[in-house]
Amino acid sequence: MASALTYEENLAAAGRYLPRFAAEPLPLLIGGELVMSASGATFDNCSPIDGSCLVEVAAGDAADIDHAATAAAEAFCVWRATPGAERQRLLHRVADIIEERAHQIAVTECCDTGQTMRFMSSAALRGAENFRFFADRAPGAADGQSLPSAHHVNYTTRHPIGPVGVITPWNTPFMLSTWKIAPALAAGCTVVHKPAEWSPLTANLLAEAVSDAGLPPGVLNVVHGLGETAGRALTEHPDIKAIAFVGESATGSAIQAQGASTLKRVHFELGGKNPVIVFDDAQLDRALDAVVFMIYSLNGERCTSSSRLLVQESIYDEFCARVAEKMRAVPVGHPLDPTAVIGPLIHPRHCEKVRSYMELARSEGATVVEGTPFAEAPEQGNWVAPALLTGAAPHMRIAREEIFGPVLTALAFSDEADAIEVANDTDYGLAAYLWTSDVGRAHRVAHALDAGMIWVNSQNVRHLPTPFGGTKASGIGRDGGDWSFDFYMETKNISVALDTHHIPNLGV
Ligand code: NAD
Repeated sequence: MASALTYEENLAAAGRYLPRFAAEPLPLLIGGELVMSASGATFDNCSPIDGSCLVEVAAGDAADIDHAATAAAEAFCVWRATPGAERQRLLHRVADIIEERAHQIAVTECCDTGQTMRFMSSAALRGAENFRFFADRAPGAADGQSLPSAHHVNYTTRHPIGPVGVITPWNTPFMLSTWKIAPALAAGCTVVHKPAEWSPLTANLLAEAVSDAGLPPGVLNVVHGLGETAGRALTEHPDIKAIAFVGESATGSAIQAQGASTLKRVHFELGGKNPVIVFDDAQLDRALDAVVFMIYSLNGERCTSSSRLLVQESIYDEFCARVAEKMRAVPVGHPLDPTAVIGPLIHPRHCEKVRSYMELARSEGATVVEGTPFAEAPEQGNWVAPALLTGAAPHMRIAREEIFGPVLTALAFSDEADAIEVANDTDYGLAAYLWTSDVGRAHRVAHALDAGMIWVNSQNVRHLPTPFGGTKASGIGRDGGDWSFDFYMETKNISVALDTHHIPNLGV
């Protein structure tokens, strides 16, 4: 396991793994070939740790997307005809390679995103799990239902929709990409992946694993570039039948408009401002650990983070004091230091955004409790300390907007009805967490919460067969289990008559 290595060992590994990226611009992968962008343009990808340039990246645009979509359309003819059992074998081989290279992937992800090794070591392995899970479903992906009627045998079959576009964000790019790409490939679709421009490195490692596993050229293509150019062109391309997108709600809205003229099928996993409700009868020690974990892990740059803490007023002061005490002890440090929990944020612009909420909180009348900063933080890096904002009210922007950093907004509620009202008073509806020892209340509140995923007396624990996705501005559609195949496949009904039904005799 990568996390078992020391800081020095991880630094030495970064010294081995990263120079290859500095040697020449990070290429695109199109039709099995590593290529520069047609225009020759590049953009810089900078380290969140100290701001230095990690790599120049080939900046794809509409011409490269067209090239990649053509390659994906050609490869689709081969890949859709590959038997499910063979796709299963090849996707397990991808998982084997990811596991073999888990440390390289984790180190690269840490240096590119600022996420700490503590979490990234398992993120690579979770990527492998995603491949294995969908690999095992590949042989049955085309299976349908038998729906007989009195005079007909009806049965359904499923068929891969065609080449699809996958557009991913910067927060945990490797794991999130596998979550989209593995089911698409298992279904028989081919993929053009447009990774986030702020963390492009591990997309090439995933593409290498897919290629080394022996999947045909063009089955997975990678086009780096900016959202407004490469991303937009992907969503507008007529050969691309569907777009699986993970990112901000506003971008999802733009993509829906961009894809309208080609009637793009879309699946969106968007932002969140997820409540965690703590009733006074909860197991408070477990609730406390989960609350702290779900906002201060992964730099708080996590769509399912419980970023709104709703505590019953009878225990509000004491519970917030305990959160503050633990938050101050959460170590901020170098992403490759296995003892660090919080690393630098992804980009100076995002760092500024997160910092601006401290000032906003004060101006809105909340109290800002700051955690312990990293004493040795390199200059020019995107370093912040964790924070807790207490005394917040539902109308405040700090209680409504997605901050996407290690910042927790705490509100008080009076009773069950008030908790539900405050929890649902948001544009988002991705996840919600609730803590109570009253079984009836757990079910009542879970039913009343407007979110796609509810965890009761638990932090976010992902079980791959269950549906993942949000309501309202948090998304459209569900991933996981068979839901992923519903998106990447078309369902066809075949109706065969038993020659017993009445056929109207016209024209007599
Ligand atoms: P973003 O929307 O800015 O960018 C995501 C991707 O979209 C990038 O690859 C970007 O280049 C591309 N893009 C931007 N404009 C585009 C356009 N007009 N057309 C096509 N593509 C375009 O999001 P981000 O800042 O990278 O990621 C953070 C967001 O992602 C947060 O809101 C977070 O909640 C969300 N997120 C959601 C989930 C989930 O499962 N619901 C998971 C992770 C992150």
